[in-house]
Amino acid sequence: MRPTSPSPRVIAPGSTIGILGGGQLGRMTALAAANLGYKCEIFEPQRGCPASQVSNGHIAGSYDNEADLLRFVSKVDVITLEFENVPVKTLQILESYKPMRPGPKALELSQDRIVEKSFLNNCGIPTAPWAKVETAEEMEMAVEKLGRPSVLKTARFGYDGKGQIKITEGMDVIAAWKDLNKVRCVLEGFVSFTKEISVIVARSATGETKTYEPVENSHKNHILDTTTVPASITDEQAKTAMDYAIKAVEGLELIGLLAVEMFVTTDGKILVNEVAPRPHNSGHWTQDACVTSQFEQLVRAVCGLPLGSVERLGRAEMKNLLGNDINNWPTILAEPGAHLHLYGKAEAKPGRKMGHVNRLFKD
Ligand code: AMP
Repeated sequence: MRPTSPSPRVIAPGSTIGILGGGQLGRMTALAAANLGYKCEIFEPQRGCPASQVSNGHIAGSYDNEADLLRFVSKVDVITLEFENVPVKTLQILESYKPMRPGPKALELSQDRIVEKSFLNNCGIPTAPWAKVETAEEMEMAVEKLGRPSVLKTARFGYDGKGQIKITEGMDVIAAWKDLNKVRCVLEGFVSFTKEISVIVARSATGETKTYEPVENSHKNHILDTTTVPASITDEQAKTAMDYAIKAVEGLELIGLLAVEMFVTTDGKILVNEVAPRPHNSGHWTQDACVTSQFEQLVRAVCGLPLGSVERLGRAEMKNLLGNDINNWPTILAEPGAHLHLYGKAEAKPGRKMGHVNRLFKD
């Protein structure tokens, strides 16, 4: 018999969690869910995806096929996501059948930089100065207002530095916008920063929140390379960063995880760059260096369980293994204090996230 639920809001162990998206984030969520006695059903067009390899079921459906979505809802008790480029309409359909955590509002926001920045600023959370660009005239006005250098980003579907152009002295700004196919964009003032940090906050179906401490991220070719914790920032900066994350998750009334990426500026301020309503690459260190991993925390949040401790057990570094880096697995396995996580992807293409290693150090 399945464990009984103490309250209607609680989805008890033994239930099935539906996950939209079948990548490594879904895989690690499914593994954490299994540890707590849940089953997972993956919805992802691609067969043999990393999450389906460790889950109870997989619907290789299409996000805009209602029959596929209905098959999915019939198998699950609650739904979450690991991937942001799911149509908002899909979430609206799903939430009319089963609890969808996070819901469409958070997704809509993370899919559109204009909606995102407006929301953050309305919550009193500072970002880089920005202006929307929908016409050639707005592009010119935006450059006049924000100066050069500045960064032009597509409002939608940009990630890992894709869909971005740095606007420099002498550059033809209209040609730059044309290079981005004249889609809706934001122009951001160039932030002079000393560090990039991020904070992951969880908010449960009961409204409880827990925030992991800020971590320091370094990128190579616009892709996250390492995350180091603790971040070398002041206590006051850490508190400000965590406060912004809580403000954002509460403003959204989000149930699940919110990852908040931020800049620490050269004059010591914290500016939010972007948010993602899901587990995040910069939270992978929590798997081996925290009492509760971000993946277990997501399961707890969406199932209405008490959130777990976010206490850190020591210093840690997470390093991504991209493409052929995965061939170093024997060396990593031989290293004391190293925890290897591989995603089960068949082909190691350059730049593709194949796994990561969490290294723990004594304080
Ligand atoms: P994003 O796609 O917004 O995460 O941006 C990718 C990377 O570009 C960030 O991690 C920063 O290193 C850099 N970047 C983004 N926006 C700005 C900005 N306004 N000023 C300076 N650097 C930026």
